[in-house]
Amino acid sequence: MQERATAALAAGKTISFVPTMGFLHQGHASLLREGRVQGDLLVLSIFVNPAQFGVGEDFESYPRDLQRDSEIAAENGVDIIFAPTAKEMYPHGYQTYVNVETISLPLCGASRPGHFRGVTTVVAKLFNIVKPTIAFFGEKDFQQLAVIRRMVRDLNMDLKIVGMPTIREDDGLAKSSRNSYLSPEERSAAFCLSRSLAAVSDLYRSGEKDVERLRAGLLEILTSEPLARIDYAEFRDGDSLEELRQADDRTVVALAVRIGSTRLIDNTIIGRGVTWKERC
Ligand code: AMP
Repeated sequence: MQERATAALAAGKTISFVPTMGFLHQGHASLLREGRVQGDLLVLSIFVNPAQFGVGEDFESYPRDLQRDSEIAAENGVDIIFAPTAKEMYPHGYQTYVNVETISLPLCGASRPGHFRGVTTVVAKLFNIVKPTIAFFGEKDFQQLAVIRRMVRDLNMDLKIVGMPTIREDDGLAKSSRNSYLSPEERSAAFCLSRSLAAVSDLYRSGEKDVERLRAGLLEILTSEPLARIDYAEFRDGDSLEELRQADDRTVVALAVRIGSTRLIDNTIIGRGVTWKERC
């Protein structure tokens, strides 16, 4: 992969890069399509990264389908699929980690200790291997995008990071490889995430700026869903991820909710709102 990247760069080509854990869906495809437009060589990585899963999490059961992923990659103009094994990425004796400090701590960092250390480590390694000119990440993983932007700035990494909007199902559920874990009943219950985000955004846009009152509106919807257990439901500054008392247009509302045993995340920038097909 490094040899092909070096050759492409030497030939004056740009490299677009979309890192994923596979089991591709339309969210990933939207990143690939943008990558195809913005770069000469389009590289997709597929790697279920053990370093970002905690003990008791779903590393073993995470859905995998390389055959179907290859088809989706081909449909979206991918030039190279880089799919290393865990042994290749973390050989015997491996001991170097990248850690972004403050903004890795709250939200998913608090619920999943060590998660972002695993993410930033693997993304830094992938950047060194793929040598991208431009890399694409989804806003669905809002904190991940913020952490990666911080790492790139702090470590003077020489590439551009592009954040892409969240792609949703027709009823609003953010597309996710983990949606495949949901039973039909849980699938209906999962609608409470996007519905609560849309409601809180409507409340904000009708003039409510007080975070405690906005939070009450959010929790009312989430707690009325019997299958949902809230991991976090927070209002944070969209750049620093610091907590707020008053919301403004840049405030991010970030959710992690368990539906049965499946942990789902979603978010919205409150001033931007959240829309999906059936809401339009
Ligand atoms: P994953 O395979 O879940 O690690 O995701 C790989 C990339 O796709 C990450 O940058 C995610 O943020 C992005 N992604 C995942 N789901 C969506 C979605 N529904 N819409 C847009 N991007 C997404």
